[in-house]
Amino acid sequence: MIYYKTEEEIEYIRQSCLLVCEALAEVGRLIRPGISGKEIDEAAEKVILDHGAKPGFKGLYGFPATLCVSVNEHVVHGIPTADQVFEGGDIVSVDCGVFMNGFFGDSAFTFPLGEVSEEVMELCRVTNTSLYLGIEQAVAGNRLGDIGHAIQHYVEREHGYGVVRDLVGHGIGRELHEDPQVPNFGKRGRGTLLKEGLTIAIEPMVNLGRKEVRTSRDGWTVRSKDLKPSAHYEHTVAVQKDKADILSDHSLIEAAIQQNPNVQEVALKTVNA
Ligand code: MG
Ligand code: MG
Repeated sequence: MIYYKTEEEIEYIRQSCLLVCEALAEVGRLIRPGISGKEIDEAAEKVILDHGAKPGFKGLYGFPATLCVSVNEHVVHGIPTADQVFEGGDIVSVDCGVFMNGFFGDSAFTFPLGEVSEEVMELCRVTNTSLYLGIEQAVAGNRLGDIGHAIQHYVEREHGYGVVRDLVGHGIGRELHEDPQVPNFGKRGRGTLLKEGLTIAIEPMVNLGRKEVRTSRDGWTVRSKDLKPSAHYEHTVAVQKDKADILSDHSLIEAAIQQNPNVQEVALKTVNA
Protein backbone atom coordinates (compact mmCIF):
# COMPACT_ATOMS: atom_id res chain seq x y z
CA MET A 1 0.00 0.00 0.00
CA ILE A 2 1.31 3.41 -0.98
CA TYR A 3 1.16 6.25 1.55
CA TYR A 4 1.00 9.68 -0.05
CA LYS A 5 2.45 12.38 2.18
CA THR A 6 1.13 15.76 3.19
CA GLU A 7 3.36 18.81 2.73
CA GLU A 8 4.09 18.73 6.46
CA GLU A 9 5.17 15.09 6.31
CA ILE A 10 7.39 15.82 3.33
CA GLU A 11 9.14 18.54 5.36
CA TYR A 12 9.86 16.00 8.12
CA ILE A 13 11.33 13.62 5.54
CA ARG A 14 13.41 16.50 4.17
CA GLN A 15 14.83 17.22 7.64
CA SER A 16 15.82 13.56 8.03
CA CYS A 17 17.37 13.55 4.56
CA LEU A 18 19.36 16.72 5.26
CA LEU A 19 20.76 15.14 8.40
CA VAL A 20 21.70 12.05 6.36
CA CYS A 21 23.61 14.34 4.01
CA GLU A 22 25.31 16.13 6.89
CA ALA A 23 26.49 12.73 8.12
CA LEU A 24 27.67 11.84 4.60
CA ALA A 25 29.41 15.23 4.37
CA GLU A 26 31.27 14.37 7.57
CA VAL A 27 32.34 11.15 5.83
CA GLY A 28 33.40 13.29 2.85
CA ARG A 29 35.63 15.38 5.13
CA LEU A 30 37.25 12.39 6.85
CA ILE A 31 37.55 9.65 4.29
CA ARG A 32 41.03 8.89 2.98
CA PRO A 33 43.31 5.96 2.32
CA GLY A 34 44.22 4.39 5.69
CA ILE A 35 40.97 5.14 7.50
CA SER A 36 38.59 2.28 8.30
CA GLY A 37 34.91 1.68 7.75
CA LYS A 38 34.41 1.61 11.49
CA GLU A 39 35.94 5.09 11.89
CA ILE A 40 33.66 6.72 9.31
CA ASP A 41 30.69 4.83 10.76
CA GLU A 42 31.35 6.22 14.23
CA ALA A 43 31.81 9.74 12.87
CA ALA A 44 28.54 9.60 10.93
CA GLU A 45 26.71 8.18 13.93
CA LYS A 46 27.98 11.00 16.13
CA VAL A 47 26.57 13.61 13.71
CA ILE A 48 23.19 11.88 13.82
CA LEU A 49 23.10 11.42 17.59
CA ASP A 50 24.27 15.02 18.17
CA HIS A 51 21.12 16.15 16.36
CA GLY A 52 18.92 14.07 18.65
CA ALA A 53 18.11 11.65 15.83
CA LYS A 54 18.58 7.91 15.39
CA PRO A 55 20.60 6.05 12.77
CA GLY A 56 18.01 4.69 10.36
CA PHE A 57 19.70 1.41 9.48
CA LYS A 58 21.15 0.27 12.80
CA GLY A 59 19.10 -2.61 14.14
CA LEU A 60 16.78 -2.61 11.13
CA TYR A 61 16.48 -6.20 9.87
CA GLY A 62 19.42 -6.83 12.24
CA PHE A 63 21.91 -4.59 10.39
CA PRO A 64 24.68 -3.75 12.91
CA ALA A 65 25.87 -0.28 11.83
CA THR A 66 24.90 3.30 11.01
CA LEU A 67 26.39 3.20 7.51
CA CYS A 68 26.44 0.63 4.78
CA VAL A 69 30.00 0.80 3.42
CA SER A 70 30.66 -1.07 0.20
CA VAL A 71 34.11 -0.97 -1.42
CA ASN A 72 34.89 -1.60 -5.11
CA GLU A 73 33.12 -4.84 -6.20
CA HIS A 74 30.83 -4.57 -3.18
CA VAL A 75 27.54 -3.15 -4.46
CA VAL A 76 25.61 -2.34 -1.28
CA HIS A 77 25.01 -3.41 2.34
CA GLY A 78 28.67 -3.74 3.31
CA ILE A 79 29.23 -3.74 7.07
CA PRO A 80 31.79 -1.16 8.22
CA THR A 81 34.53 -2.76 10.35
CA ALA A 82 37.94 -1.87 11.77
CA ASP A 83 39.54 -4.34 9.33
CA GLN A 84 37.95 -2.60 6.36
CA VAL A 85 40.78 -0.14 5.71
CA PHE A 86 40.47 1.91 2.53
CA GLU A 87 43.26 2.24 -0.02
CA GLY A 88 44.03 4.78 -2.72
CA GLY A 89 42.25 3.75 -5.92
CA ASP A 90 39.22 2.39 -4.05
CA ILE A 91 35.70 3.56 -4.64
CA VAL A 92 33.74 3.55 -1.40
CA SER A 93 29.94 3.53 -1.57
CA VAL A 94 28.42 4.91 1.62
CA ASP A 95 24.70 4.63 2.29
CA CYS A 96 23.11 6.32 5.30
CA GLY A 97 19.68 6.51 6.87
CA VAL A 98 18.24 8.69 9.63
CA PHE A 99 15.07 8.36 11.70
CA MET A 100 13.88 11.62 13.22
CA ASN A 101 10.44 13.01 14.21
CA GLY A 102 8.83 9.80 13.03
CA PHE A 103 10.24 9.86 9.49
CA PHE A 104 13.15 8.30 7.65
CA GLY A 105 15.65 9.88 5.29
CA ASP A 106 17.92 7.89 2.97
CA SER A 107 20.77 8.85 0.66
CA ALA A 108 23.99 7.36 -0.70
CA PHE A 109 27.20 8.53 -2.37
CA THR A 110 30.22 6.75 -3.85
CA PHE A 111 33.56 8.36 -2.93
CA PRO A 112 36.56 7.78 -5.24
CA LEU A 113 39.73 7.75 -3.11
CA GLY A 114 43.12 8.84 -4.39
CA GLU A 115 44.15 7.73 -7.86
CA VAL A 116 41.08 5.98 -9.24
CA SER A 117 41.38 4.69 -12.80
CA GLU A 118 39.62 6.72 -15.50
CA GLU A 119 37.49 3.68 -16.31
CA VAL A 120 36.13 3.57 -12.75
CA MET A 121 35.77 7.37 -12.49
CA GLU A 122 33.57 7.18 -15.59
CA LEU A 123 31.46 4.49 -13.90
CA CYS A 124 30.92 6.88 -10.97
CA ARG A 125 30.06 9.85 -13.19
CA VAL A 126 27.61 7.84 -15.30
CA THR A 127 25.94 6.32 -12.23
CA ASN A 128 25.59 9.73 -10.56
CA THR A 129 24.23 11.24 -13.77
CA SER A 130 21.75 8.37 -14.19
CA LEU A 131 20.31 9.20 -10.77
CA TYR A 132 19.36 12.69 -11.98
CA LEU A 133 17.93 11.31 -15.24
CA GLY A 134 15.70 9.09 -13.11
CA ILE A 135 14.71 12.01 -10.89
CA GLU A 136 13.72 14.05 -13.98
CA GLN A 137 11.03 11.44 -14.62
CA ALA A 138 9.66 11.55 -11.06
CA VAL A 139 6.80 13.92 -11.88
CA ALA A 140 3.05 13.50 -11.45
CA GLY A 141 1.46 11.83 -14.46
CA ASN A 142 4.50 9.72 -15.32
CA ARG A 143 4.79 6.08 -14.29
CA LEU A 144 7.40 4.22 -12.29
CA GLY A 145 8.64 2.57 -15.46
CA ASP A 146 9.63 5.98 -16.81
CA ILE A 147 12.14 6.37 -13.98
CA GLY A 148 13.62 2.90 -14.44
CA HIS A 149 13.72 3.24 -18.20
CA ALA A 150 15.59 6.55 -18.10
CA ILE A 151 18.25 5.08 -15.81
CA GLN A 152 18.57 1.75 -17.61
CA HIS A 153 18.68 3.27 -21.10
CA TYR A 154 21.45 5.70 -20.18
CA VAL A 155 23.51 3.22 -18.18
CA GLU A 156 23.16 0.09 -20.32
CA ARG A 157 22.39 1.28 -23.86
CA GLU A 158 24.56 4.38 -23.87
CA HIS A 159 27.41 3.20 -21.65
CA GLY A 160 27.37 -0.61 -21.64
CA TYR A 161 27.33 -1.05 -17.85
CA GLY A 162 25.08 -3.43 -15.92
CA VAL A 163 22.13 -2.15 -13.86
CA VAL A 164 21.62 -4.35 -10.80
CA ARG A 165 18.20 -6.02 -10.93
CA ASP A 166 18.10 -7.75 -7.53
CA LEU A 167 18.01 -4.51 -5.50
CA VAL A 168 15.77 -1.53 -6.12
CA GLY A 169 14.74 1.86 -4.77
CA HIS A 170 11.66 2.23 -2.60
CA GLY A 171 8.94 4.35 -1.12
CA ILE A 172 10.02 6.04 2.12
CA GLY A 173 8.31 7.79 5.03
CA ARG A 174 7.34 6.39 8.41
CA GLU A 175 9.08 3.22 7.25
CA LEU A 176 12.48 3.10 5.56
CA HIS A 177 11.15 0.75 2.92
CA GLU A 178 7.59 1.39 1.82
CA ASP A 179 5.70 0.61 -1.37
CA PRO A 180 6.27 1.02 -4.20
CA GLN A 181 9.50 -0.65 -5.25
CA VAL A 182 11.44 1.66 -7.57
CA PRO A 183 13.49 -0.40 -10.02
CA ASN A 184 16.40 1.10 -11.91
CA PHE A 185 15.16 -0.64 -15.05
CA GLY A 186 11.83 -0.81 -16.78
CA LYS A 187 9.60 0.15 -19.64
CA ARG A 188 8.35 3.61 -20.45
CA GLY A 189 4.72 4.24 -19.58
CA ARG A 190 4.44 1.10 -17.42
CA GLY A 191 3.95 0.59 -13.73
CA THR A 192 2.41 2.61 -10.92
CA LEU A 193 1.15 6.08 -11.78
CA LEU A 194 3.18 8.77 -10.00
CA LYS A 195 1.12 11.22 -7.96
CA GLU A 196 1.94 14.28 -5.89
CA GLY A 197 2.89 13.35 -2.34
CA LEU A 198 4.67 10.14 -3.30
CA THR A 199 8.08 10.07 -1.63
CA ILE A 200 10.62 7.63 -3.04
CA ALA A 201 14.30 6.81 -2.79
CA ILE A 202 15.83 6.49 -6.24
CA GLU A 203 19.14 4.64 -6.08
CA PRO A 204 20.84 3.26 -9.17
CA MET A 205 23.38 0.53 -8.44
CA VAL A 206 25.57 0.16 -11.49
CA ASN A 207 28.17 -2.49 -12.22
CA LEU A 208 31.16 -1.83 -14.46
CA GLY A 209 30.73 -5.35 -15.82
CA ARG A 210 27.72 -7.63 -15.77
CA LYS A 211 24.54 -6.94 -13.83
CA GLU A 212 24.52 -10.13 -11.75
CA VAL A 213 25.23 -9.97 -8.02
CA ARG A 214 25.86 -12.39 -5.17
CA THR A 215 25.50 -12.05 -1.41
CA SER A 216 28.72 -12.65 0.52
CA ARG A 217 29.17 -15.13 3.35
CA ASP A 218 28.54 -12.46 6.00
CA GLY A 219 24.92 -12.57 4.84
CA TRP A 220 24.86 -8.84 4.10
CA THR A 221 27.44 -7.62 1.60
CA VAL A 222 26.18 -7.75 -1.97
CA ARG A 223 28.96 -7.91 -4.57
CA SER A 224 29.14 -8.08 -8.32
CA LYS A 225 29.33 -11.67 -9.51
CA ASP A 226 32.24 -10.87 -11.86
CA LEU A 227 34.02 -8.91 -9.07
CA LYS A 228 34.20 -5.73 -11.15
CA PRO A 229 33.56 -2.40 -9.38
CA SER A 230 30.08 -1.07 -8.69
CA ALA A 231 28.82 2.45 -7.89
CA HIS A 232 25.73 3.65 -6.00
CA TYR A 233 24.13 7.09 -5.69
CA GLU A 234 20.80 7.76 -4.00
CA HIS A 235 18.42 10.64 -3.41
CA THR A 236 15.08 10.72 -1.62
CA VAL A 237 12.60 12.77 -3.68
CA ALA A 238 8.98 13.89 -3.50
CA VAL A 239 6.93 13.65 -6.67
CA GLN A 240 5.49 17.02 -7.68
CA LYS A 241 3.58 18.39 -10.66
CA ASP A 242 6.36 19.71 -12.87
CA LYS A 243 9.62 18.80 -11.19
CA ALA A 244 10.58 16.36 -8.44
CA ASP A 245 11.51 17.94 -5.12
CA ILE A 246 14.90 16.47 -4.15
CA LEU A 247 14.75 16.14 -0.36
CA SER A 248 18.35 15.00 0.17
CA ASP A 249 21.17 17.42 -0.70
CA HIS A 250 24.41 16.13 -2.19
CA SER A 251 25.84 19.66 -2.43
CA LEU A 252 26.76 19.28 1.26
CA ILE A 253 28.81 16.18 0.39
CA GLU A 254 30.32 17.73 -2.73
CA ALA A 255 31.45 20.80 -0.77
CA ALA A 256 33.17 18.50 1.74
CA ILE A 257 34.91 16.58 -1.04
CA GLN A 258 36.21 19.80 -2.58
CA GLN A 259 38.10 20.46 0.65
CA ASN A 260 39.45 16.90 0.86
CA PRO A 261 42.47 16.24 -1.37
CA ASN A 262 42.05 12.47 -0.88
CA VAL A 263 38.70 12.31 -2.68
CA GLN A 264 38.00 12.95 -6.34
CA GLU A 265 35.01 14.97 -7.45
CA VAL A 266 32.30 13.10 -9.32
CA ALA A 267 31.10 15.61 -11.89
CA LEU A 268 27.77 15.10 -13.63
CA LYS A 269 27.98 14.43 -17.33
CA THR A 270 26.32 16.53 -19.99
CA VAL A 271 23.38 14.62 -21.43
CA ASN A 272 21.93 15.25 -24.87
CA ALA A 273 18.16 15.41 -24.53
MG1 MG B 1 20.14 4.16 1.07
MG1 MG C 1 17.39 3.34 -0.10
